[in-house]
Amino acid sequence: MTLLVVGSVAYDSVQTPQGAREDALGGSATYFSIASSYFSPVSLVAIVGEDFQPEHIALLEKHDVDVSGLERVDGDTFRWSGVYSTEDVNQRETLDTQLNVFADFKPNLSEQHRNADFLFLANIDPELQLEVLGQMNQRPKLVALDSMNFWIDGKKNELDKIVEAVDMVFMDEGEARTYANEPNLRRAAARIHEVGPSTVIIKRGEHGVLISNEGNLFSAPAFPLDRVVDPTGAGDTFAGGFVGLISATGDLSEAGIRRAAVLGSVMGSFTVEDFSADRLATLTHEQVVERFSEFERLTQFTGLDKSNSLPWRA
Ligand code: AMP
Repeated sequence: MTLLVVGSVAYDSVQTPQGAREDALGGSATYFSIASSYFSPVSLVAIVGEDFQPEHIALLEKHDVDVSGLERVDGDTFRWSGVYSTEDVNQRETLDTQLNVFADFKPNLSEQHRNADFLFLANIDPELQLEVLGQMNQRPKLVALDSMNFWIDGKKNELDKIVEAVDMVFMDEGEARTYANEPNLRRAAARIHEVGPSTVIIKRGEHGVLISNEGNLFSAPAFPLDRVVDPTGAGDTFAGGFVGLISATGDLSEAGIRRAAVLGSVMGSFTVEDFSADRLATLTHEQVVERFSEFERLTQFTGLDKSNSLPWRA
């Protein structure tokens, strides 16, 4: 089935305890489309400036990402910069966000893109997310959305409107708490359900993911790595693996969602092993399958015996 992502394509400057990179390829739609491309045909809709390097378009094309919706206009590509804490690599501070060409982006979907089966509204201005959903010819089988503090703080009302209209929301734990105005994550998920989406996916960095799906809760750890180089893009890669698998299988059952979540975590674990999309872009089928199997072993345990009891002493 076909998958459409609308989001940012960016140049990121990041500092992590392992080093720094200036103007490296980034953006929510970049990570999402490369990750999902391993499993599903994917089309990308975004905008870049005249400074966008041909080698980066070639990289997307190499992954068979349909870039016919990647507009190139006068001006500079979106830029984001951030620094990660040396004590806790989960903590990052945004130093600067320059919307540049994104400030005037008015996506106009092609006829083919308007018929996509699955739609991922990656982290961009919620007004654009709403505009894109409005252009679809029919409601996709699944509409999922990601957002971040920049929009939760700056455009809460607009964000409410699009959250109300989607089936699935991805937020990191800080964003979910801020958006729901609720520190307890389980209650924050319940509040987000009240706004509309039937599936709420709370990304918890190195603590994994918590999913609340139509009354079912599922929690999976992050794959434990001995070295994290750059966490940028882990969330978008997670979503790319997750929605990419669902687009490939069409399986939206509880079991299908759980498997997709584990694949998303596996994909995210590769992205953080190097700067930018360097590791994500060079994966093989064997490497992903091997890590998925390791993940299975990591999380397997034996349930209670048939009598469903414990050696209880009271
Ligand atoms: P993640 O680490 O998965 O949360 O996503 C990081 C990516 O989001 C970076 O590559 C940035 O270019 C992109 N990004 C950061 N801020 C914004 C924003 N306000 N709108 C759209 N994309 C953004």
